[in-house]
Amino acid sequence: MDELIISRRSVLKFAAASLVSGAAHRLYADSNKPNENFGKEKTMEINIFAGAYENGQYTLPELPYDYDALEPLYDQETVRIHHNKHHAKYVKGLNDALSKLEQARKENDYTHIQAISNALAFNGSGHVLHTLFWHSMKPGGNGGKIPNDFKTALDESFGSSDAALKQFAAASKAVESNGWGILAYEPIAQKLLILQCEKHQNLTIWGVVPVLVCDVWEHAHYLKFQNDRAKWVDNFMQLANWDFASQRLEEAKNCAMAIRR
Ligand code: MN
Repeated sequence: MDELIISRRSVLKFAAASLVSGAAHRLYADSNKPNENFGKEKTMEINIFAGAYENGQYTLPELPYDYDALEPLYDQETVRIHHNKHHAKYVKGLNDALSKLEQARKENDYTHIQAISNALAFNGSGHVLHTLFWHSMKPGGNGGKIPNDFKTALDESFGSSDAALKQFAAASKAVESNGWGILAYEPIAQKLLILQCEKHQNLTIWGVVPVLVCDVWEHAHYLKFQNDRAKWVDNFMQLANWDFASQRLEEAKNCAMAIRR
């Protein structure tokens, strides 16, 4: 029921925003098509977590593009179910876990603390990663173009940007069971690294900031690609939003600098 409420609220919000601002909800234009924002993208700052938390509850953010915008590389039906069923379920699970913890504190009853803490980490990480995932892709990709600053960062951290992309794709394809390929900024060495995450919360390093994430759960690709995860990852690499990754890296560096002072 709650899931339905979240989805309905999101749909209403989406409809209202569309009425007021036309197609303004589409943050990412197809880079293969001419558009009026051409040349302005580099300076456009995206508020990644807009709509992911409102009025004391975690919420399902709208997609930054239409459900069919990633066709033919990522099919509309999968994107729709992935967003309004799977991502929505993690949002609900996160709110439920926090609500149960509040109840436990009120009743001073921590009998189920292990299961609830597990649900908090699983669903919370699921919400964060899916919110980043939708921005990690862009209609038409970046036309394969990586902003110069970001390319330099890849060169410095991995020897070459080509090697970085190959490692990211290989790591994503080889995740054991369900999980993620994650390109992240590590604030101690101040370098990028690639993690192979299991479920949503395992095999991470505390303090890293994900800058580009690839979902390799079966629900992310099974409708169209069935068991061919490698094909899905190859398509994801063509959709990769390197402008977004570049923005996230700058934010991560600023955050790290503030912590190190
Ligand atoms: Mn997913």
